[in-house]
Amino acid sequence: MHKKLFIPGPSEVRPSILAKLATPQIGHRSKDYSDLHGRILPKLQQVLYTKNDVFLWASSSTLVMEACVRNLSNKKVLSCVNGAFSKRWAQMCTANGIPNEVLQVEWGKPILPEMIDAKLQSGEFDCLTVVMNETSTGVESPIDEIAEVMKKYPDVMFCVDAVSCMAGVKIPTDEWGLDVVLAGVQKAFALPAGLTVSAISNRAFERAATVKYRGYYTDFLDMKKYNDKNQTPATPAIPQIFAMDAQLDDILAEGLDNRWERHKRLAEMTRNFVESHGFPLFPERKYCSKTLTCAVNAKGIVVADLNKELGKRGFQISNGYGDLKEKTFRIAHMGDVTDAEMKELLDHIDDILKTLPTNVQA
Ligand SMILES: *Cc1c(COP(=O)(O)O)cnc(C)c1O
Repeated sequence: MHKKLFIPGPSEVRPSILAKLATPQIGHRSKDYSDLHGRILPKLQQVLYTKNDVFLWASSSTLVMEACVRNLSNKKVLSCVNGAFSKRWAQMCTANGIPNEVLQVEWGKPILPEMIDAKLQSGEFDCLTVVMNETSTGVESPIDEIAEVMKKYPDVMFCVDAVSCMAGVKIPTDEWGLDVVLAGVQKAFALPAGLTVSAISNRAFERAATVKYRGYYTDFLDMKKYNDKNQTPATPAIPQIFAMDAQLDDILAEGLDNRWERHKRLAEMTRNFVESHGFPLFPERKYCSKTLTCAVNAKGIVVADLNKELGKRGFQISNGYGDLKEKTFRIAHMGDVTDAEMKELLDHIDDILKTLPTNVQA
């Protein structure tokens, strides 16, 4: 039996979109491909509120995170780390021999503008990496406030991993001055895995032109050269791009503001549900993600058993990430999930919880 996914990626993909993967292949140097590529980019620019160039990468998000640090630093990268995915960015600097320093924040807490300001004042950094929505802890850092601080540091590239929130929350790329914002499409875009989207600023291209070793598959300037012709340097993920074309039409038909509101509403519903069942929110409510909820397992249930029971009913949520396994659990509410589907899942959890042993006296 298929389990409907309420995990923070991959997300449930609607059958009409899955069907697009079966579109017959076209040659990637054909006019048909360029037409497809060229009609997708303006739709993505709408979703991202940007005039910047948008790229389609045949890879998961991790490659494009790595591309950022390879293309944008000649001095030192400041890596803001408050969970597993932000840590990955710091590890990539090390793996590529790029000088970097970690701004470490406790898991479950957000990255705040004053922390960044205090670090950047030294003038030793030329690139900043920050994760908007830390999927491991369910924290959304206030990128709008960080953006205000970043305006003081125009020479520091501003790279944002929006993997688990892009297309689920409003990201005004140009207003915030993001040099790179990236996301794999298997999360809030509700598309099949294997494709990553990024918007890249002109400042970033200017910086990349000063960096000697940008890698080959990761080279922003090579990507731009082809993207300007509505192509990609290597073979694109053609099936996913067909699916994306259709999904972007559906996203725009829903209306961006409606989409952002729906995600807020589902987040509220989920937060209220876990709290009223004795599971406090792991982050402070103000910094809770709008695309997934991370709850503390204060009642000492066996999260794996909850998921096993849910599985029998055709649903799946996530355990806590890494060391947070069994200490927390995560329910995703991203992509195309409707209010009714969310309620259905929560009703099942409510039902199952009545049967699971806890460490709380009744
Ligand atoms: C899922 C995720 C990633 C990694 O994405 P891949 O597509 O698996 O490479 C990176 N950052 C965040 C915040 C994520 O949620």
